[in-house]
Parts: sequence; C-alpha cells; structure tokens
Amino acid sequence: MPHVIVQNCCNDASCVPECPVDCIHPTPDEPEYATAEMLYIDPDVCIDCGACIDACPVSAITTDYELTAEMAPFETMNADYYEAVGSSADRDHPFADPRARRKRPASDAETLRVAVVGAGAAGHYVVSELQHRIDVRATIDVYERLPETGGLVRFGVAPDHADTKKVQEQFAQSRTHSGVTTHLGVRIGEDVSAAELSRTHHAVVYAVGSLHGRDLGLPGADLAGVTAAADFVAWYNGHPDFAGLSVDLSHERVVVLGNGNVALDVARVLTADPEVFAGTDMTEDALAALRDSQVREVVILARRGPGHAAFTTPELVGLARTVPVVALPGDLEEAADEPADPQARFYREQKLALLQTLPAPDAAPDDRRVVLRFGTTPTAITASDGALSVAFDDHGAPTSLDCGLVLPSIGLRGTSVPGVPYDEAAGTIPNADGRVLGPDGAALPGVYAAGWCKRGPTGVIGTNRYDARGTVDALVADFHAGLLTAPPAE
Ligand code: NAP
Repeated sequence: MPHVIVQNCCNDASCVPECPVDCIHPTPDEPEYATAEMLYIDPDVCIDCGACIDACPVSAITTDYELTAEMAPFETMNADYYEAVGSSADRDHPFADPRARRKRPASDAETLRVAVVGAGAAGHYVVSELQHRIDVRATIDVYERLPETGGLVRFGVAPDHADTKKVQEQFAQSRTHSGVTTHLGVRIGEDVSAAELSRTHHAVVYAVGSLHGRDLGLPGADLAGVTAAADFVAWYNGHPDFAGLSVDLSHERVVVLGNGNVALDVARVLTADPEVFAGTDMTEDALAALRDSQVREVVILARRGPGHAAFTTPELVGLARTVPVVALPGDLEEAADEPADPQARFYREQKLALLQTLPAPDAAPDDRRVVLRFGTTPTAITASDGALSVAFDDHGAPTSLDCGLVLPSIGLRGTSVPGVPYDEAAGTIPNADGRVLGPDGAALPGVYAAGWCKRGPTGVIGTNRYDARGTVDALVADFHAGLLTAPPAE
C-alpha cells in the first residue's frame, strides 16, 4: 500500500531523507527540484513504512487507503510522475543528509552573531540552517516589522489552506531554541538603521520577501477598483498595512489578470461558500464582504496558451473541486511545442489533460463560477457608470469585459529596505549566491539576502529552505575566511 503526496506539499523535502528506499523525488539535489510543482512518491518502490508521514510539516502525505475523494487525483498524479520521468529505482544517488556536509565542529571562539530581518518562511529557514550547522555556533536576532511572525505563510497563504499554514508551528519551534531572540514590531531602516544592525552583528541576512504586486503599466491601472491581487490577499488575511483597503464586490463579475497560483487563490476566495472561511485567518470584515458579495463570475485572463499556464496542477485540482471552473474549448487548442525535459513535458501534458476535462461555459451550472481564458492580452482599463471595463486582445481580436473589480495578479516584487541595495527593475536585492552586492558590483561584507527578495517570487514555501542553505553556506564560508567583522562586546 504506497503512500501518496497530496495538494498541500510544501516542497521542503523533510520527508526525503527519512525514506529508507529513496522513493520521494525530485530531491533538492536533483535538477528537476527547482521547477517541481510538488514532490511525488513512487508507488512501485514505496514500502509503506510511514516514515515520511511523520516528517511532513504540513500533513501532505497519506496512505492510499486513507485517501479522500478530494485527494484521489493525487494518487494518479504521484504514479504518473514516475511514468513520465522514469522509476525512482533507477536514480543512482540518495539525497545527502545535509548534516553530513558539515565540515568540523566549531570551537568556543567561533560564535557568530547574526541578525535575520523578516520572520517569514525565508527568515525561518535561515535560522534553522544556522541552528543545524556544527562548524559554527550562532546567536540569532530575528527582526520583524509586524507584531506577528509568519510573513506570507500567515498573510499570503489562503485562509482555507489550513494544513499549509501548519508549517508555522515548525517556524515557531525553531525560534524557541536558546540563542534565538525575536524582536517584533521593529522596522529595520526606520527604528534601527541597516548600518547599526551591521555594526552589532557579524552578519545580517535580509529575508524581507515580496509583499506587493508588480506594476501593471496599462492605461487605467490606477483607477479605483483596480487592486493588486497581492493587496486583496493581504487584506482578507488581516495584514495590518491593508486593513483599510476598499474592495467593491457589488458587481457580478471580477476580472483577474494573470493565471498564477495567486490568481487561482483569489478566484477561489471570491466564489467559494464564504462559510468555508469562518474561523480561519480571514478577517471578520472580509468575511462580511464575501457574505454580502454579488460576485458570480471570476474571469481569469492569461496572455499565453494553456500549456504555459502559470498555475500549478495541484492548485487547479483544488480550485475545480471547490467551485465550477469552465474554459472556452477554442482557447484550449494550442499548437504543440513539446518541451524536451521529461518533467516539463509531464507538467504540460498533465495541465492540458485536466483543462480538457473542464466544461464549456454553457454546460456549467447557473451558479458562481470561474472562467479560465487563454490567449488574452489586456490593453487598457476604463471606468464608466460605476463599472470598469477591461479591454483586451483575444487571439488577435479586440474585445472587452465589464466588471466591478480588476485584480492584476502578475507576480510580486520585493520589499526595499532603507540603506540596503535594491534593484527596482527586478524587484530584488542584488546579490551573488546570497552575498548582497553594492553599487560597484562588489559584495558588501557581512550583508546577505535569502528567499524571494534574493531570487524573486518563485517556488513554494519549502523552496526557501534550500535557498536559505545557499545563503548560510556563503555566510559561514565568509566567516571562516575572516571576512566578517566581529561586533563590539556587549
Ligand atoms: P506567477 O506564478 O509568476 O504568475 C504571474 C502571471 O501573470 C502569469 O500568468 C503571467 O503570464 C502573468 N503576467 C505577467 N505580467 C503580465 C502583464 N503585464 N499582463 C498580463 N499578465 C501578466 O505569479 P503569482 O501567481 O503571483 O505567484 C508567485 C509565486 O507564488 C509562484 O511561485 C506561485 O507558485 C507561488 N504561490 C503558490 C501558491 C500555492 O502553492 N498554493 C499560492 C500562491 C502563490 P505570462 O506567461 O504571460 O507572463
């Protein structure tokens, strides 16, 4: 009876070293890991020992006999992955336990004082990586500008994804270890300068994430009623910066621009039964707005074809089991451009196969629904008579849709910190392997970046674990090379 990984896999790969038969892939040291939508268990190799279940921080692994109807598609998905990329039995290297890489035990003199700015997933994984090193000891100050930790796990993950949010328990546990002090409500660059933080620590790691939506840059993008999906998400999750956001749900239609996982999240929140969100992280204001909402249709406009959809298949499965999702059959006809990479081909075929099972708009019940459109490039937004109109190019033909709210969901940009280099165009902190680069392109001693502010907003929660490992490797190497300045004794 094999085990199965389901929708809320966070890719942190805690399960991988626990598996005695190496049947969970891709592992973080395999090239496919960087673009993996989730991890998969090879049913032909799994021995049903259950070690992976205990290791998973988000309860994303189950036995095949305990699969609910909702989880059933994932049984096939796990098996199909190995059909597409080859059996796990043919892989020749088990994932190296990260602790085996540690070089030598630290002497008492080798105690590092590190500041980590940001208490979201990236900051957590930096803390955790430092705690697991044996070639240095670290005392760590975590600084968080909000009165709460969790970052986008708390304020970005959808309120109905309770299992995913459980990873916060792991985050909280690592901060209770001796040597870690968490400072809430402290803004670096305002309450404490970046220079002062560097003076009082050997190293500072900026893990400040990507909170804001990228600029749409279209005529009408600044009209009332055009709200970045990222802001809408932060609002319904109770982020204090967005408490006063005005969200008009009085019109029957909302248009979402871009079709990544954030787009699917907001579409699900706008169309699901609001009672699903009662008792979650969703604010009472947002819950009341959803209960009063007149929205019946969310249209998701994507520039490219279905084979290039930015959402992951697990999230489309999750959306389609919550609300009716429809697609225009004509939109789903896409010229084949088969990727050579087996994993990329698997994802493309899986996505197309799932989309082909969606009903056409006419066939869908007369109820709330989500409409997926492809080959549609927005060109302008206008306002008249209390409504908005999104003009777009539909496979070459100009057309438009009326709505009450437009949610651009076109990716996120990093948060800048006064006194820390920032690349406006990329929306990230310029860096090489986590070492922050100054204006002359040289690494600034003792200043590092981790997570989305380092590499941009890609991947899922656990992807940040391996990103953090790279930054901590650089930081510790610089320490042993004598490149970090010791802070004055307290
Ligand atoms: P994303 O995955 O990068 O998707 C951005 C979308 O915006 C794409 O469809 C892109 O399409 C489109 N786009 C970009 N510029 C545009 C423009 N100027 N006009 C119209 N469309 C434009 O971004 P995201 O949804 O914000 O997600 C960010 C990251 O968070 C991703 O790694 C995602 O997987 C992750 N996330 C995961 C979950 C989950 O696992 N449950 C939930 C939320 C977010 P083109 O192909 O045309 O560029």
